[in-house]
Amino acid sequence: MAGLACAGALHRAGFAVTLFDKSRRVGGRLATRRVDGFMFDHGAQYATARDPAFTAAVEAMAAAGRAAPWPAAGEGRWCGVPGMSAMARHMEQGGLGTLHTGRHVAFLHRNGEGGDGGGWRVRHRDAADTGPGLVSDAGGELAGPFDRVAVALPAPQAAGLLHPHAFAAEADRAPMAPCWAAMLAFNDATTAPDLLRPDAGPLRWIARESSRPGRAATPECWVAHATPEWSRAHLEQPAEAVLASLQAAFTQETGIKAAACFAVVHRWRYALAEAPLGTPALWDAAAGLGVCGDWCLGARVEAAFLSGSTLAGMMAG
Ligand SMILES: Cc1cc2nc3c(=O)[nH]c(=O)nc-3n(C[C@H](O)[C@H](O)[C@H](O)COP(=O)(O)OP(=O)(O)OC[C@H]3O[C@@H](n4cnc5c(N)ncnc54)[C@H](O)[C@@H]3O)c2cc1C
Repeated sequence: MAGLACAGALHRAGFAVTLFDKSRRVGGRLATRRVDGFMFDHGAQYATARDPAFTAAVEAMAAAGRAAPWPAAGEGRWCGVPGMSAMARHMEQGGLGTLHTGRHVAFLHRNGEGGDGGGWRVRHRDAADTGPGLVSDAGGELAGPFDRVAVALPAPQAAGLLHPHAFAAEADRAPMAPCWAAMLAFNDATTAPDLLRPDAGPLRWIARESSRPGRAATPECWVAHATPEWSRAHLEQPAEAVLASLQAAFTQETGIKAAACFAVVHRWRYALAEAPLGTPALWDAAAGLGVCGDWCLGARVEAAFLSGSTLAGMMAG
């Protein structure tokens, strides 16, 4: 969301923007998983809109049929339609510049350090062949030169790219909590409440996907998120062991005894910004280097949007 907001605003202002994302689709933690006919929003659950600019952006998504309120989650909470990733898709279709997906950015070279010419060059590699978090000043391809560069990644991943340059210290002091997410489906309808927020045990959030706007009632899909503490303690456990623990907790919290017809877990290594910087974005005008992301302002979709929009204004100025 931060990168999309930044790129979209610069593109609309007339700048030639090139965007790299290591995933196959844009959206990052605004994610929807479709598998075997099931559909899960396993990352951000909803967006809350309080700021006028973000409210206007969400209302534009709603007018285009890409977002709707989710009354079961509470007032002022918006979902993407048909899934959370539709919010990102809407921004992509609004225009971003030149988009390269499936490209892992492995290094930022300043002033021709990694090739000819001035400005910045971006070293990027096929994400399918690149380990997560890899930082390397060799291999892959070089793009650029670019006058200015914006880094819109979770803090620990941003730190890897920023270390030879500026703002690495800021990224280093913005820890991010992990989250193990379970996705479960059942053939038959159940009677559990649409939402549960357990206050003890491994889980902190359980949501019936069909309570979201525009979702089919069956098959019945559920998403359950583990607490940051439990996720951190079980970060490197095998997925099967994590799934077994989270399914047991799910059964206890919901009372759903039926066997799931589909069950997987996803590990978000960098899910929630735990100690945001308290500043919307970072910009070094002399270097032409900017940083945005939810860890600047707060662990929310809206904060990521405001961070990216603010950085675009700084870069354009
Ligand atoms: C489980 C979970 C539940 C959440 N629930 C909510 C909620 O209910 N409400 C709410 O408001 N927020 C929620 N959030 C937080 C919200 O999702 C984030 O605050 C927001 O989406 C962050 O956006 P971002 O642009 O800062 O980062 P991201 O969405 O993480 O985007 C970063 C992008 O960088 C790309 N990337 C990373 N490394 C590289 C690289 N080396 N090269 C190229 N590309 C790279 C990624 O593919 C990704 O697209 C939740 C998050 C999680 C994980």
